[in-house]
Amino acid sequence: MTRQPDRAPVLDLDVDGFEFDAQDINEGFFYGIPRAVIQRAEDRLLDPSVRSVAYFSMEFGLAPSVYQPYRSKGALSPRNRKRDFEVFSNMRQMDYYHLVHLDTVVDIPIYSGGLGVLAGDTLKSAADLKLPLVGVGILWNKGYFDQQFCIQYGQLPGEFDWDPRAYPGLVKLKTVVELHIGREPVKFHLWKYYVPSFDKEHAVPLVLLDANHRDNPDWARELTDQLYESSTVWWKIVQRKVLGMGGMRALRALGYAIAVFHLNEGHAAFAFVEAAKGKNPDEIEALTERFAYTCHTPVEAGHDRLPLDALAAVLSADELEISQRYGQDERPGRVNLTILAMNASKYVNAVAKKHEEVTKIQFPNHEKKIRGITNGIHIPTWISRPFEQLFNEYPLVFENWKDSPDSLQQVARLRDDRVFREKLWNAHKQNKAGLLDLLRPWGMQDDVFTIAWARRAAPYKRPSLILQRTDRLVELAKKHGGVQIIFAGKAHPNDYAGTSNIREILRIIDSLEEHRYYLKAIFLENYDTAVARLLISGVDVWLNNPLPPFEASGTSGMKAVLNGVLQLSTMDGWVVEAADNEIGEIFGHRPVQGEIGHELDLKLREDSSSLYDKLELMAQDYYQVERGPAADRHASKWIDRMIHCIEVASYFNTSRMVAQYNRSIWRMAPIRHEDFS
Ligand SMILES: *Cc1c(COP(=O)(O)O)cnc(C)c1O
Repeated sequence: MTRQPDRAPVLDLDVDGFEFDAQDINEGFFYGIPRAVIQRAEDRLLDPSVRSVAYFSMEFGLAPSVYQPYRSKGALSPRNRKRDFEVFSNMRQMDYYHLVHLDTVVDIPIYSGGLGVLAGDTLKSAADLKLPLVGVGILWNKGYFDQQFCIQYGQLPGEFDWDPRAYPGLVKLKTVVELHIGREPVKFHLWKYYVPSFDKEHAVPLVLLDANHRDNPDWARELTDQLYESSTVWWKIVQRKVLGMGGMRALRALGYAIAVFHLNEGHAAFAFVEAAKGKNPDEIEALTERFAYTCHTPVEAGHDRLPLDALAAVLSADELEISQRYGQDERPGRVNLTILAMNASKYVNAVAKKHEEVTKIQFPNHEKKIRGITNGIHIPTWISRPFEQLFNEYPLVFENWKDSPDSLQQVARLRDDRVFREKLWNAHKQNKAGLLDLLRPWGMQDDVFTIAWARRAAPYKRPSLILQRTDRLVELAKKHGGVQIIFAGKAHPNDYAGTSNIREILRIIDSLEEHRYYLKAIFLENYDTAVARLLISGVDVWLNNPLPPFEASGTSGMKAVLNGVLQLSTMDGWVVEAADNEIGEIFGHRPVQGEIGHELDLKLREDSSSLYDKLELMAQDYYQVERGPAADRHASKWIDRMIHCIEVASYFNTSRMVAQYNRSIWRMAPIRHEDFS
C-alpha cells in the first residue's frame, strides 16, 4: 500500500460558515487524532486491493460525553450542550422545583435507541480491531425528538435543536451528491465524523448525508430533519432512499473501493437497488455475494411493507422494477424491505441465538442462510470509572481487558478473595452514589434497594409491567426496607400504544404519592446515552421484561452486567444465552418451542405476579449485604452473582461480535505493523 501524496487532501473540508478552531484541525492533528492515522484509514478504503466494508445504518449512537471526547479549543456551543431535564416522580412537589443537571455535550442526535447504540459500538470495535470499515448514515438536522412529560398524554414530542456546524469533530466536506426524489433532483452535503480506536492508532470514518443544501427547494431541505419521520409513507420511502441509494452514491463520490455492503436493518435495502441498476440478471446475482444484512427484530413494525403506488412517486421506473423483483411481499402490491434485503444478501444474520430460531420461523424461504451472531456492547464505552479502576488493580487477572475482554472471565479466580469482594461492593456503591446524587432533591438514598427500567417505550418491552399491582409493590417495599424505581425512555411520536404506556406509568406514579417514604418512583425525561451510562451502573437491579420472544437481543442488560449490576429478566434475547450463569433472577412467560405467539398478547397479569415474587427474593438478598454484618457480605449470594455478571460480560461485547462478523462475513485484514509509520 503506497501513499498518494499528489491526491487531493482526504479532508476536503467545506469551511463555509463553519465554526472550528485552527488549533483543532491542522497539519498534524484532527481534534486530537493524528492526521497520519486518518490518512492511513482513508488510504485503505481507497485502495481496491484492500478488502473493505461499508456499514449502512439509519441511526448511529455516538456520545462523546461517554467515550472519546473530541475536546475543542473553542467553547462548546450552548445548542450542543445537554439541557437540564425534568422528572416525573411520586414526590410531585420536588418535580416543580428541581431539574436534573448534567453539564455535558449532547450525544450526536442521530439515533433513537438500541439499534443506533449498537451501530455506534460496532464502529468503535471495528476501529479497535483496526479494520478498514466505513459507516454510512444520515445527518439528522433536528435529531429524533425532544421529550416532555405531560400527564394528560404521556409525552409531548418537541423539536430537538442542535448545531452540527459547531459540533466538535463533525465536519462538512466539499463533495456533494445528487439523488432524484420523484422527478426532482436533490443535492446532499456529505459530513464526516471519525471514530477513533481506544488507542488512537486507527479510525473509522462515518459518512453522513444531509439534504439541507441551499440549492434545494424548501421541501427538499427538510428531508433529513427528523429521524424516523413517518407521518406519511412518502417520508418513510424517501428516508430509506436517501440512506440506501444516497449512501451508495456517497461512497462512489468519495472514491472508496468497497468489497462488502452491510445493511444494518432493512432500512438500507435500497443500496442494493442502486448497485443493481443497469446490470443484467447474472451480474445482479453476482452482486448478492457482496451484500450482508442484519435483521434486528421479530416485531411487525420493524419490517417495512411499502405500497407500489407510493414507491412510484419516489423511485424511477427501473428502481421500482428491481425493488419489486427482489422485494416481493407475500401480498401483491407491496415491496417488503426485509425480503428485499434477504434476497439481496448472501449473508443474513439475526442478533442472538433465540432470534435466529425465530427469524427462521418467520422467513422459512431463507432459513438456510440465516445465522445468529449475538449482539454486544463496546466495553471501553460502558465501563464505569470505579470498575475500570478495580479491573486495573488486578492486571494479572484482567490482562488487557480493554481490547481483549475475554480476560474478564478470569474474575472467577477472585471469587473467594475477601478483599476483592469488598472492593467490588464499594465500586458498586460509588456508582450508585454518583447516580443518586443527581436525584438528591427527591430524597433517593444509596442504601435503599434500587431498580431501573430504561429503554425505548415500545409495547412489547412492557414498560409498565412492574406497576401492574402497586399494592404488592408497596407491601414489598414496606416489608424489606424500601424500594426505589427509576424509569426512562421515549416512545416514537406516532406510536400510540407506546405513548399510552408512558401516560399509564405517569398516572400510576402520581397515585403513589402517599407511599413515597418507602416506595419512590421516578421517570427521567429524554433518555439518552449519557443518562444510560449512569443508570446501567448506578442501580442494584436492571429490569428487562420484554414479552418473549419479541426482544431480538437487547443490549442494555449487557452494559449493566459489565458493571456488576444484577438482572431481573424474562427469558428473551441475549439473556437466554446467559441465564445459566446466575446473573440474577429469570421470570415469566416462555413460549413453546417453535411457536412465536402474538406481540399484543402481553400477559401482564401472569408475568407481573412472577416479577414480584422474584423481586422480593432480590430485595431480601440485597438488604442482607447492605444492612447485614460484614461477615454476611463475604458469604453473600449477591456478590457471587455480581462476579458472575462480570464473567458473562467477557462474551457479550462488540469486540467478540465484530470479530465474529469479520470471520464469517467481512473477512477484512487488520492493519499490519509494517503499515505503521
Ligand atoms: C443501550 C441503549 C438502548 C438499548 O436498550 P435495550 O435494553 O437493548 O432495549 C437504548 N437506548 C439507549 C440510550 C441505550 O444506551
